Amino acid sequence: MTDLTVGAVSPFALPRRGRSFPAMNQDTAFFWEGTKAHQLLIQRCTSCGRLRHPPGPACPHCHSFEWNTVVSAGTGTLYSFVVQRHPTAPAFDGPAVIVLVELDEGVRVISNVAIDPDTLVIGERLEVGFVDQDEGFTVTEFHRPN
Ligand SMILES: [Zn+2]
Repeated sequence: MTDLTVGAVSPFALPRRGRSFPAMNQDTAFFWEGTKAHQLLIQRCTSCGRLRHPPGPACPHCHSFEWNTVVSAGTGTLYSFVVQRHPTAPAFDGPAVIVLVELDEGVRVISNVAIDPDTLVIGERLEVGFVDQDEGFTVTEFHRPN
Protein backbone atom coordinates (compact mmCIF):
# COMPACT_ATOMS: atom_id res chain seq x y z
CA MET A 1 0.00 0.00 0.00
CA THR A 2 1.37 3.36 -0.90
CA ASP A 3 0.60 6.77 0.48
CA LEU A 4 0.27 9.00 -2.56
CA THR A 5 0.47 12.21 -0.56
CA VAL A 6 3.84 13.45 -1.72
CA GLY A 7 3.50 17.11 -0.94
CA ALA A 8 2.25 20.24 -2.62
CA VAL A 9 4.90 20.17 -5.33
CA SER A 10 2.86 18.96 -8.28
CA PRO A 11 -0.88 18.74 -8.86
CA PHE A 12 -0.18 15.33 -10.40
CA ALA A 13 1.06 13.96 -7.09
CA LEU A 14 -2.09 14.70 -5.10
CA PRO A 15 -4.73 12.08 -4.39
CA ARG A 16 -7.83 12.93 -6.36
CA ARG A 17 -11.39 11.91 -5.73
CA GLY A 18 -14.61 12.13 -7.66
CA ARG A 19 -13.56 9.93 -10.55
CA SER A 20 -16.12 8.50 -12.92
CA PHE A 21 -17.56 5.19 -11.80
CA PRO A 22 -15.73 2.45 -13.72
CA ALA A 23 -17.52 0.02 -16.01
CA MET A 24 -18.18 -3.06 -13.88
CA ASN A 25 -19.75 -6.30 -14.99
CA GLN A 26 -19.47 -10.00 -14.16
CA ASP A 27 -16.20 -10.21 -16.11
CA THR A 28 -14.52 -7.26 -14.40
CA ALA A 29 -16.01 -7.43 -10.87
CA PHE A 30 -13.01 -9.39 -9.50
CA PHE A 31 -10.64 -6.66 -10.70
CA TRP A 32 -12.52 -3.92 -8.84
CA GLU A 33 -12.90 -6.09 -5.73
CA GLY A 34 -9.13 -6.47 -5.89
CA THR A 35 -8.44 -2.76 -6.16
CA LYS A 36 -10.80 -2.17 -3.24
CA ALA A 37 -8.55 -4.51 -1.22
CA HIS A 38 -5.52 -2.65 -2.68
CA GLN A 39 -4.49 -5.62 -4.78
CA LEU A 40 -3.89 -5.64 -8.51
CA LEU A 41 -5.43 -8.92 -9.70
CA ILE A 42 -4.66 -10.47 -13.06
CA GLN A 43 -6.85 -13.08 -14.70
CA ARG A 44 -5.12 -16.43 -15.31
CA CYS A 45 -6.43 -19.18 -17.52
CA THR A 46 -6.48 -22.40 -15.49
CA SER A 47 -6.36 -24.46 -18.69
CA CYS A 48 -3.21 -23.08 -20.35
CA GLY A 49 -1.88 -20.95 -17.50
CA ARG A 50 -1.55 -17.73 -19.47
CA LEU A 51 -2.29 -14.36 -17.90
CA ARG A 52 -4.59 -11.90 -19.60
CA HIS A 53 -5.73 -8.33 -19.19
CA PRO A 54 -8.13 -6.66 -19.68
CA PRO A 55 -10.46 -9.21 -18.12
CA GLY A 56 -12.65 -11.31 -20.35
CA PRO A 57 -14.85 -14.39 -20.13
CA ALA A 58 -12.68 -16.66 -22.31
CA CYS A 59 -8.98 -17.22 -22.83
CA PRO A 60 -7.88 -15.68 -26.15
CA HIS A 61 -5.25 -18.43 -26.52
CA CYS A 62 -7.08 -21.71 -25.76
CA HIS A 63 -10.70 -20.45 -25.51
CA SER A 64 -11.22 -21.95 -22.05
CA PHE A 65 -13.80 -20.32 -19.79
CA GLU A 66 -11.99 -21.53 -16.66
CA TRP A 67 -9.87 -18.98 -14.87
CA ASN A 68 -8.65 -17.71 -11.54
CA THR A 69 -6.56 -14.74 -10.51
CA VAL A 70 -3.04 -14.00 -9.39
CA VAL A 71 -1.96 -10.99 -7.36
CA SER A 72 0.42 -8.81 -9.33
CA ALA A 73 3.57 -7.52 -7.67
CA GLY A 74 2.33 -4.14 -8.88
CA THR A 75 5.58 -3.22 -10.58
CA GLY A 76 6.34 -2.72 -14.24
CA THR A 77 7.62 -0.34 -16.87
CA LEU A 78 5.99 2.59 -18.62
CA TYR A 79 5.05 1.36 -22.09
CA SER A 80 3.21 4.48 -23.30
CA PHE A 81 1.11 7.39 -22.06
CA VAL A 82 -1.20 10.19 -23.19
CA VAL A 83 -2.06 13.50 -21.55
CA GLN A 84 -5.65 14.70 -21.75
CA ARG A 85 -5.34 18.48 -21.60
CA HIS A 86 -8.62 19.35 -23.28
CA PRO A 87 -11.35 18.94 -22.36
CA THR A 88 -10.34 19.02 -18.72
CA ALA A 89 -11.46 16.17 -16.50
CA PRO A 90 -13.31 17.57 -13.46
CA ALA A 91 -11.95 14.91 -11.11
CA PHE A 92 -8.37 15.90 -11.81
CA ASP A 93 -6.44 18.87 -10.50
CA GLY A 94 -4.52 19.12 -13.74
CA PRO A 95 -4.42 17.30 -17.07
CA ALA A 96 -5.45 13.66 -16.80
CA VAL A 97 -2.45 11.44 -17.48
CA ILE A 98 -3.26 7.97 -18.77
CA VAL A 99 -0.47 5.41 -18.77
CA LEU A 100 -0.05 1.98 -20.30
CA VAL A 101 2.14 -0.02 -17.95
CA GLU A 102 3.68 -3.36 -18.83
CA LEU A 103 3.58 -5.28 -15.58
CA ASP A 104 6.48 -7.56 -14.67
CA GLU A 105 4.03 -10.46 -15.07
CA GLY A 106 3.82 -9.62 -18.80
CA VAL A 107 0.39 -8.04 -19.22
CA ARG A 108 -0.30 -4.37 -19.84
CA VAL A 109 -2.71 -2.28 -17.79
CA ILE A 110 -4.17 1.17 -18.34
CA SER A 111 -4.17 3.48 -15.35
CA ASN A 112 -3.62 6.99 -14.15
CA VAL A 113 -0.30 8.10 -12.79
CA ALA A 114 0.73 10.45 -9.98
CA ILE A 115 3.67 11.90 -11.89
CA ASP A 116 4.07 15.16 -13.78
CA PRO A 117 3.78 14.03 -17.43
CA ASP A 118 6.59 16.35 -18.48
CA THR A 119 8.98 14.11 -16.51
CA LEU A 120 7.66 10.71 -17.65
CA VAL A 121 10.13 8.55 -19.55
CA ILE A 122 9.07 5.56 -21.63
CA GLY A 123 10.60 2.45 -20.08
CA GLU A 124 10.93 3.85 -16.58
CA ARG A 125 9.97 1.71 -13.58
CA LEU A 126 6.56 2.31 -12.03
CA GLU A 127 4.70 0.87 -9.07
CA VAL A 128 0.96 0.66 -8.52
CA GLY A 129 -0.84 2.64 -5.84
CA PHE A 130 -4.52 2.74 -4.99
CA VAL A 131 -6.81 5.72 -4.46
CA ASP A 132 -10.05 5.01 -2.61
CA GLN A 133 -12.99 6.97 -3.95
CA ASP A 134 -15.79 8.31 -1.77
CA GLU A 135 -18.27 6.50 -4.02
CA GLY A 136 -17.04 3.11 -2.77
CA PHE A 137 -14.64 2.01 -5.47
CA THR A 138 -10.86 2.21 -5.74
CA VAL A 139 -8.78 3.18 -8.75
CA THR A 140 -5.19 2.36 -9.53
CA GLU A 141 -2.67 5.16 -9.84
CA PHE A 142 0.95 4.40 -10.64
CA HIS A 143 3.93 6.26 -9.18
CA ARG A 144 7.71 5.95 -9.17
CA PRO A 145 9.02 3.29 -6.76
CA ASN A 146 10.56 4.64 -3.59
ZN1 LIG B 1 -5.97 -20.54 -21.91
